[in-house]
Amino acid sequence: MDNVQRPDNLIYPQLEYTLSVIDKCTDSYIFIFDLKNDSYSISASAVKRFPLPCEKFNNVSDVLKTVIHPDDFDTIISNLKEIEERKTSQHNFEYRWKNIDGDYIWISCRGQVITNNDDEALYLIGRISEIGALMVADNITGLLTDVQLSRDYKAYIAKGLNPDGYLMRLKIDNFKEINRCYGKTTGNGVLKTFAKILEEESAFNNTCVYRYENSNFMLFNHSGKTIKDAVSAYENIRRAVEKAAEKNEYKTFFTVSAGIVKISKDFNEEIEDLYKKMEYAIYRASKEASNNIFIFNENDYNKYIRRLKIQESLRIDIKDNFKNFELYYQPVISLKTNKVIGSEALLRWNNNEFGDIYPSDFIPILEQSGLIVPLGKWILKTAIKQCKLWQKYIPHFKMNINVSYVQLRNSDILNDIGDYIEEIDIDPKYIVIEVTESGHLDMNTEIIKGLFQRNFKLAIDDFGTGYSNMRYLQYLNVNILKIDRSFVERATKNEYDYKIVKHIINMAHSINLEVCLEGIENAEELKTFSSLNPNFIQGFYFGKPVPKDVFFEQNIRSSISD
Ligand code: C2E
Ligand code: MG
Ligand code: MG
Repeated sequence: MDNVQRPDNLIYPQLEYTLSVIDKCTDSYIFIFDLKNDSYSISASAVKRFPLPCEKFNNVSDVLKTVIHPDDFDTIISNLKEIEERKTSQHNFEYRWKNIDGDYIWISCRGQVITNNDDEALYLIGRISEIGALMVADNITGLLTDVQLSRDYKAYIAKGLNPDGYLMRLKIDNFKEINRCYGKTTGNGVLKTFAKILEEESAFNNTCVYRYENSNFMLFNHSGKTIKDAVSAYENIRRAVEKAAEKNEYKTFFTVSAGIVKISKDFNEEIEDLYKKMEYAIYRASKEASNNIFIFNENDYNKYIRRLKIQESLRIDIKDNFKNFELYYQPVISLKTNKVIGSEALLRWNNNEFGDIYPSDFIPILEQSGLIVPLGKWILKTAIKQCKLWQKYIPHFKMNINVSYVQLRNSDILNDIGDYIEEIDIDPKYIVIEVTESGHLDMNTEIIKGLFQRNFKLAIDDFGTGYSNMRYLQYLNVNILKIDRSFVERATKNEYDYKIVKHIINMAHSINLEVCLEGIENAEELKTFSSLNPNFIQGFYFGKPVPKDVFFEQNIRSSISD
């Protein structure tokens, strides 16, 4: 059998010492399994990478059970048993170990059995390598990969020579299209061409090139070049790419975008943090256009990270049964009777982590992430229930509810709202759905018409900030126009805007639309606009948005005594 016999004069500490020296010369993890004493020693670096208790432990199979993938465990344990029973000397497996983040990664484990003169198995000695991490070089382009970039960067830091220069991540914008259209071989050809261009350019300015994931590459300058130098390197690369396309007569055509991060010897940054910044920089570059460059700046990045954190907190609060969300209510007044005829439900998020945060800050995040869909259902149901409760005191009380275009497009709002109406037992004519003018009305025509057919009232919010025309609003069967406060504000100061508001109101009335003026803050504004005869008024003058109990005290209790 393929085992090694222990020399008579070799003692265990010598073996441990020799292996500890080898450990310093390899990226693999070296291990010794003392089979007789059920004791296992492994490189110190393995303890940082895998959830092992320490470098040396007993009860080996129990400990290994906590790191080996459950599907692989039995195979490995039966091999170790066969080694002890001298049925085999082979230990050569590829299987999965759990890393400290809890993810399973593939490892290659090779071992050699050491026996004594009586052919008893004493030790299994070997190495464990991470299969994924071995990809230091890329076979297509011949470049080193980001594994090597991380090593190079860390080597500078370890020597106390913090690199000064820049990191540039470059991405072929239309690589997926090239693969889809021409196939993988052509795609690989494009990667090679681009790698060559990068190598030629970087040879001039003392910069190293690496292949990053997919169609991404990295340039690493550590010789003190500036952002200006990086931009001119990018421009040279872009020109070379254009020339290459010209030379092959536009058989394949590609463009490249770049994200640049300055690195400075004063910052002492971890490479992983720089990767995160590069990720952001290339995202920003490609988000805006193709063939584009973005220079990282801390300010934008912090805002972006803050936004992601807000999004995460919103998600957690939604998952936690809509914790920290509350609806406030603002009165809507009929100009004719000067009485409260209903309210608008306005969302609030009482989360203290990010300071004062307003709907105009967090609603776009809810919309972009799609979280407005589950939350929107909660808003609809809560507001409809509230409307029903207040109808006990004001029988025709109406509730205005804001609905985002994302809800219209991505949820089954017609069925949902139909269910709520039935469950809560309320006539839909008391529910006014507000959609903003800028909210892609044209894309949601069918849903808006569906709401009309089910007898809901429909209001166009923030009218005057978008481009809707009256004819189209009539076609959609809109009932109410809400004229935005920005208009009201301007109209108090200048005659021209005042006339526009006047004409909008007249025109709306002539086609049987009602008008609500938003944002009346004082008696003077009320006086100015009352003469234009809007049907409804909403504004701080009559009441700010407040929690339901306060709304009741301010607006409903008084009408009971009326
Ligand atoms: P909106 O629907 O046009 O709501 C009116 C906004 O104007 C409210 O701001 C209200 O507090 C404010 N406002 C009312 N009267 C006055 C006034 O006299 N002066 C001034 N300066 N402001 C006044 P808020 O609550 O901050 O909401 C802002 C926007 O956020 C809303 O504008 C709406 O587009 C959106 N929003 C609020 N709640 C919801 C919701 O539940 N769902 C959706 N999809 N959007 C919502
Ligand atoms: Mg509104
Ligand atoms: Mg509005």
